[in-house]
Amino acid sequence: MKRRIAVWIFFACFACLCFTGCRSVPYSGRSQMLFTSESQEEKLGKQAWQQILSKERIEKDPQYENNLLRVGKNLATAVNMPKYKWEFKVFDSNTPNAFCLPGGKVGVYRGLFKYVDNDAELATVVGHEIAHAVARHGGERISQSMLQGIGATVLSVALNDQLVQLAYGYGTNLLAILPYSRTHESEADYMGLLFMAKAGYDPHASLKFWEKFSKLSDISMVQEFLSTHPAGKSRIKELKEHLPEAMKLYDKAPTKLGLGEVYSNKMQTKAAVAKKSFNTNYKNNKLSFGLNRNPDWSYNEDYRGVTLIAPDKGAHILIQTAGITDVTGRRRSLEAITDTLRRNLEVRGSNAKFAKPKPTVLNGMKGMDFSGQYTLRNMNIQQYNAILMSPSGRKFYVISYYGKPEYFKKNMKAAAQMIASFRGI
Ligand SMILES: [Zn+2]
Repeated sequence: MKRRIAVWIFFACFACLCFTGCRSVPYSGRSQMLFTSESQEEKLGKQAWQQILSKERIEKDPQYENNLLRVGKNLATAVNMPKYKWEFKVFDSNTPNAFCLPGGKVGVYRGLFKYVDNDAELATVVGHEIAHAVARHGGERISQSMLQGIGATVLSVALNDQLVQLAYGYGTNLLAILPYSRTHESEADYMGLLFMAKAGYDPHASLKFWEKFSKLSDISMVQEFLSTHPAGKSRIKELKEHLPEAMKLYDKAPTKLGLGEVYSNKMQTKAAVAKKSFNTNYKNNKLSFGLNRNPDWSYNEDYRGVTLIAPDKGAHILIQTAGITDVTGRRRSLEAITDTLRRNLEVRGSNAKFAKPKPTVLNGMKGMDFSGQYTLRNMNIQQYNAILMSPSGRKFYVISYYGKPEYFKKNMKAAAQMIASFRGI
């Protein structure tokens, strides 16, 4: 009886919140559930922006910011969000990425400029990110996490300000860091395409950019998990379908800019060279490797190798080495050692389900990688493994990223970035 009342209260609150919190997304018309108000999201966006500004370095070379400001201004006019206080910054980092926080705070990492040839391609990315903000995907994600994680107790409080307080700590992650869902991604692609067209950039440039960008990643984990973007082919197909609609807006644009300014090779090379002159902030001379350790992750060196530990301690990256010869002195193949690792995982746990290992290349090193799940002491573990041949050819690196599925997912972007920066010395 008690339980029935609780269930009833839950649904009553849910219905009332949904009644006040359902709206349709502009342009796409999809209905979304929001427990946050636009001004609360903007407040969170501002807070997250301050956090990011205190952590990231601003790119010193002004040409990157000049490009972003020019493109950003045109997009902001096209988007027409009078309440937004637009800011555009380029950060000194080789990561090819960008984001827009609610309220119009746009960040682009210098590494992205390696992949954009002109203003129109930059407008593709920035327009996509702005679309996430305009469509209020961050607020939607906060609302979803409230519903999943906090449940009836908090819903019955039903005071939005208190709800936002609870989500506050997760603000940065929910608004900018975590990968978006496929629905959000497709919607941002669609709206972003319309925004760039309205701003006067030829929407065809978006196809060219996403085709280039989808070939970017070397390791499958980055493609499957880190990638905040749907698979290249489906994305291109959807964009092609929306192209006629975007072309209509482009034809009506007050000024047609075409591709806009074309970027100098020098600028792109600089972004690319910065990537090559890889500076590891974590080096392990005993195991002969380096990587860019996320400062929020701690590490522990022991007889097995090195373990990097996520800030919430729920996920780990273990890096070990294995000899290239077996006990009899025979050379082991990459496939054989991959198979051994896979079988060890199956024996250690139960209910193992792994994808077929795939050949990979990471920073010039050949390897194999595979992901999957198994159960260990009644606990589900998700694990990604990469086995790489060292540059000297004398040993294998075995990199495993693992954790309970929710922690695995939560920390995966940071983990993938670290793994992508792994270099054998
Ligand atoms: Zn996106």
